[in-house]
Amino acid sequence: MSSLNIPMPREQLERIVRQIIWQQITVPLEAPGGATESAYTPNLVVNISARHLHMSKEHLEILFGPGAELTVYRWLYQPGEFASEQLVTVMGPNRKAIESVRILGPLRKFTQLELSATDSFALGITPPVRPSGQIEGTPGCLIVGPKGVVELRQGVIRAERHVHMSTADAQVYGFTDGQYIRLKVNSDCPAVFEHIFCRVHPTFLLEVHLDTDEGNACNLVNATSVELLP
Ligand SMILES: [Zn+2]
Repeated sequence: MSSLNIPMPREQLERIVRQIIWQQITVPLEAPGGATESAYTPNLVVNISARHLHMSKEHLEILFGPGAELTVYRWLYQPGEFASEQLVTVMGPNRKAIESVRILGPLRKFTQLELSATDSFALGITPPVRPSGQIEGTPGCLIVGPKGVVELRQGVIRAERHVHMSTADAQVYGFTDGQYIRLKVNSDCPAVFEHIFCRVHPTFLLEVHLDTDEGNACNLVNATSVELLP
């Protein structure tokens, strides 16, 4: 899925370093007749989601020209999701700007900018913490592309920390879709994150998404182990 024959840019190296694959919970699955036939062991991955945009087709064409498409820069851990090669500048009030913000694909119905708290200070915007997709009443921003400008009326959020998991993962842990759980990160800055939103879907891979501030706060890059807790 993620084997693109392109040179590994610095960003990707950092991403791989940040990716903490860990947790071994082995739950024997009972075969008919009582014999233990196989075991399913979820691999918990905790990744930092740096600032990024999701985008509508309409906005993409304004920013990059009619007929513009997102092209794959790097596949992400969740199947079908990718970081695109398309970069834009986002601007808050008073012309405070952040350059080279990456658009994630595939395209969505609505445009959404996800920032860390530190990013939002730099832009002079105060976005609320929201689950992805819930953008009603959130602040907007200006998006500047090579071919045009979009004045986004709403859609700037600080993404609510969450975990993606398959139905099988949820069964192993005993969690359900929509439940809030906790994440423990063991490092030299250990932390327990409360209020991690569980998103269960058959095609999801087990992955926690924290933002840059959250990842830095617990020194996730140098974590020795991570653990999901009820
Ligand atoms: Zn996510």
